[in-house]
Amino acid sequence: MKTSYFDNSATTRIDPQVQEVLLKTFSRVYGNPSSPHAAGREARKVIEDSRERIAGALGVHEREIIFTSGATEANNLVFRGVGEKKGKHIITTQIEHPSVLEVCSFLEQEGWSITRLAVNETGGVHPVDVQKAVTGETVLVSVMWANNEVGTIQPVEILGKDREYLLHSDAAQALGKIPLNLKAVDYLTLSGHKLHGPKGVGALYFRKGVPLHPLILGGGQEFEKRGGTENVALIAGFAKAVSLAVGELSDNRKKMEEARQRFITMIKTIPESDILGSESDRLPNLLNVSFKGVDAEALVLALDAEGVYISSGSACSSLSTEPSHVLLAMGLPMEKAKNSVRFSVAVDTRNEEVEHLIRVLPRTVSRLRTFSEKKVDG
Ligand code: PMP
Repeated sequence: MKTSYFDNSATTRIDPQVQEVLLKTFSRVYGNPSSPHAAGREARKVIEDSRERIAGALGVHEREIIFTSGATEANNLVFRGVGEKKGKHIITTQIEHPSVLEVCSFLEQEGWSITRLAVNETGGVHPVDVQKAVTGETVLVSVMWANNEVGTIQPVEILGKDREYLLHSDAAQALGKIPLNLKAVDYLTLSGHKLHGPKGVGALYFRKGVPLHPLILGGGQEFEKRGGTENVALIAGFAKAVSLAVGELSDNRKKMEEARQRFITMIKTIPESDILGSESDRLPNLLNVSFKGVDAEALVLALDAEGVYISSGSACSSLSTEPSHVLLAMGLPMEKAKNSVRFSVAVDTRNEEVEHLIRVLPRTVSRLRTFSEKKVDG
């Protein structure tokens, strides 16, 4: 069966150039990067070259990048590592990824006070709301650069101006999709597998001089911020993926927008379908749509049977049948949130994939609607 992949916000296919780097490094570079001999030095060089590559792509200094196991760890590291010099208050939003929201709940139990800001109906945070929430005790403000479920881009650059708090942003979804100005933030979270790199690797940018206590103690690796022998091959593959994604950003963005536009045109022919999120401030690759009367889980499964892969909500929470916390925070009624699915394209989305989706989606939606009407009648 032909398969078509529209779940690129959950994860992406490995870029062939990244695969080459991964395989080459896995098979040839075996030393421990902390060993002083030539095999160790070779591994160290791979890591330092990768760090330099990522720092160069982001316009920051190498010492400001540390490698982690992914965005989840980078988010945990910031929240647990920011320290409490000024107080124990953190401001974030209701639509963050669970790797932020869960660590916030944990910190609350440890005596921290957490403000979770509301968002508007398109999923946007208002900078004035952030300002209003700041107190003398506020250590950190954390607002994701772009949301993983609806793709709404947040005003991070505005939040970065004239401030007395440390600013963190989770850019797992934004990197390689939109330009990022790192001058706006003190900490930035990155992930490898959202941009055609390997899973299980990511990074944290932390501006020189900002507090960061390590979460994992050990052999002093990563400038003493993250103990543990580095995963040399994954780091090399990640760096390649970042340099490709950032270097070819404007071409890639155009390709993703074109694929999505064809898809939007088709969606508009399906009655009672509603595109959610912001039309202007949205990632180029993502579309969240609510089809009235169609259960999201049923649509995901019905399309899966046709070889088309999409997602209901985010991959991280889609094993649960609870409606998305993001859509509910945007004020969507429960029913509409339960009818919403996410389609996400990537730079490697093929025309045949888009055509496949365009062929099967309208009839699948209408079949499920007939089915649910019958159930109501019966
Ligand atoms: N933050 C956001 C916004 C994400 O979309 C994801 C992945 N779903 C993560 C964090 C977690 O990333 P990782 O899988 O690298 O831990």
